[in-house]
Amino acid sequence: MTLRGRLTAAFLTVVLGPVLLGAFFVGSTLSAVDRGRATERLGVAAAGVRTSVDALCQQLRAAADAVALVADPAARSRAADQVVGRGLAAAVLIVDPAGRTSYATAGGPAGPWQDCAADATTGPVRALAAQVRLRDPAGADLGTVAAAQPVDPAFVARLAAVTGAGVTLLDDPGRITHTTETREVRAAVLAAARQADGDRVTGTTDGRYVRRVGPAPGQPLPLVLSVPGERPPGLYAALVGAVVLAALLAVVAAWRLARVTTRPLVELAGAVDRVAHGDLSTRVPVRSRDEIGRLAGAFNRMTRETGSYVAALTSSRDQLRGHLAVLGDTLASTHDLQRILRVILHSAIAATGARAGAVLLVDGDGALVGQCVEGLDGRWPTEDPADPATLRVPVGAGVLGRVAATGEPLRGRWEATDTPTGEPSCETYVAVPFAAPRGTEPRPERPGHPPADSDGSSSARPAPRRDLESRRDLEPSSDDSCALGVLALYDRLGADEFDDDDLVTLRTFAGHAAVAVENVRVHEEAQRLSLTDPLTGLWNYRYLRESIRREVERANRFGRMLSVLALDLDRFKHVNDTWGHAAGDAVLVEFARRVRGEIREVDLAFRHGGEEFVVLLPETDARGATIVAERLGAVIRGQPVPVEVHAGEVVRVPVTVSIGIAVYPDHAAGGQQVLDAADEALYAAKAAGRDGYRLARPPDPVPTQEIPVVVAAVSPPDGLPRAGAGDGATAAQGGASSGPHPPRQSRGR
Ligand code: GH3
Ligand code: MG
Ligand code: MG
Repeated sequence: MTLRGRLTAAFLTVVLGPVLLGAFFVGSTLSAVDRGRATERLGVAAAGVRTSVDALCQQLRAAADAVALVADPAARSRAADQVVGRGLAAAVLIVDPAGRTSYATAGGPAGPWQDCAADATTGPVRALAAQVRLRDPAGADLGTVAAAQPVDPAFVARLAAVTGAGVTLLDDPGRITHTTETREVRAAVLAAARQADGDRVTGTTDGRYVRRVGPAPGQPLPLVLSVPGERPPGLYAALVGAVVLAALLAVVAAWRLARVTTRPLVELAGAVDRVAHGDLSTRVPVRSRDEIGRLAGAFNRMTRETGSYVAALTSSRDQLRGHLAVLGDTLASTHDLQRILRVILHSAIAATGARAGAVLLVDGDGALVGQCVEGLDGRWPTEDPADPATLRVPVGAGVLGRVAATGEPLRGRWEATDTPTGEPSCETYVAVPFAAPRGTEPRPERPGHPPADSDGSSSARPAPRRDLESRRDLEPSSDDSCALGVLALYDRLGADEFDDDDLVTLRTFAGHAAVAVENVRVHEEAQRLSLTDPLTGLWNYRYLRESIRREVERANRFGRMLSVLALDLDRFKHVNDTWGHAAGDAVLVEFARRVRGEIREVDLAFRHGGEEFVVLLPETDARGATIVAERLGAVIRGQPVPVEVHAGEVVRVPVTVSIGIAVYPDHAAGGQQVLDAADEALYAAKAAGRDGYRLARPPDPVPTQEIPVVVAAVSPPDGLPRAGAGDGATAAQGGASSGPHPPRQSRGR
């Protein structure tokens, strides 16, 4: 059964029940009142009948007495006639003791006469009579005198007039003898009279009330009295009509009410169904301000909120997808760590809804240094807010330092009591470390520049970024790990603090950052290994070709000079032959170390192959190059190389080197040519007896080159030599054998 059906049924029950009860109560009350009043009226009428009949009987008895008082029979007859003549009785009958009529007045009513003293009838009653016994003075019975009055329609009509009720005279079997009732009600009165018992009042079907009176002592006539009810005609019909009308109205009202009540619910149920199928644009009309109206309003608000929530989620998902795509592309396409960290930071900010953020890496000094920042302008006291590196927090200090030191992420709200540690100021923060198990210690090196060995000398190993460490496992929360860096976000949009979900998200991005840092480090290491010589750690021949091209191009562009030294150890085969190949390797390593120690940071040393080396001296002219050559010759010549040949036996191997010098663009027009020119000069040095240096010959001397030019006259204010500028050293040919070497300091670079 539907809700509408139940509501209709409930309403009908509530409305029709009282209506029916009320109608029944009204009907029965009116009926009882009517019967009571009718009973009262019938009682009064019965008393009136008795009084009238009794008066008549007394009159007839007096008449009979008057006749009986006459002793003489003849006179008695005359007296009887006189009594009739005066109207005291309608007839007088004198009967002798034998029962024979001795005299009867003329014109008397037909029999049978009902005696006034009788209490029952036999057959129809025609007259009412009173009898008096005749006796002689001695008391002997002389018969009876009866005076009678007819009981005819007129008599009955008089009784009706006296009592105000309908009067009906019955005969013994219960048929009507005379009546004042109309023909229409006669049958109903007769039927009620037959059921009537004693003095009980009975109602007829047409609304009358009937009561039997007599025959009984004092009232010998079998009479039925009837009075009409005082109920308004059609009372029951009106009541039934009212009930039916009320029922009809109730049905209509219930149906309408149920419809009005259930219609919004039906609409709401349909809408909920559509929402359940995913249609969040569903709305229901709000038709009222009642509970259902409020429910509909709340439903609309709920679907609207859900819709916008879903839209926001979808857009943030799309946004995140975009960020992840950018992140993936960036990770796959570049080894630019700054760029990767910036993309990771952007993605983390977009994913968590933060206002600002920073990525910091631990540097060699045990401090967290900002690598990239977002939205932190003016948030920490610094001289240059645009430079992320000015965000510097010691490990262990403040929130960021604590995260890096403990390896545990932190999130929360900035307390006013927090002491400033150089960290950005904010309201809420979340900071996650990214870390790896302890591997090699960080190398404070710069790309392309030889790092310092433990003894302070140069190892000439091109190094990875100074802030990167060699790591195998990048799991951020690993126990035996130390922090690579910290990813921090500040001021979540809205008043809330960052929650655990944000923390999980940020850990994911921190994992990306750790992977990126490691990838870049591995990449740089691979690149370094591909460009260096494994024995000496110097740059290899491959890098030499690239470097000479680059340096020639740069010298060309800025109009500077580039000097190339070609070095070859003297009689190295002899070293190998005498002390073994391993000793030769040790000599090569030591030689490389000493070379690195003698050149500037911008200079580049290469192992060309075997025991041959090349040194590039950017922005250096021939004079400067000869100074370096002299110094290199001296540093290797001055101290024989200690080599352990057998267990515990150390020999000091004397080593010398020959050096050829060529200057771009003085001696050659290109990279390979200048290398060739240096090689040629090297051969010249060998030919000249070794352990010395030679400057290349100018390729194609022209007259202008013979004009001597004073170096100082052409040197620009920056003191750097210019391409094409002549040099006093151009003609100088030197060697250890040609004279003493000037002290290094006096020929400073
Ligand atoms: P010079 O140059 O003075 O004419 O005499 P040299 O003995 O050095 O002659 P050369 O340049 O022809 O010989 C080079 C020798 O260097 C040959 C080889 O035995 C040795 N050599 C080359 N590469 C290596 C190396 O990696 N390790 C060692 N131990 N020896 C090497
Ligand atoms: Mg050689
Ligand atoms: Mg040699």
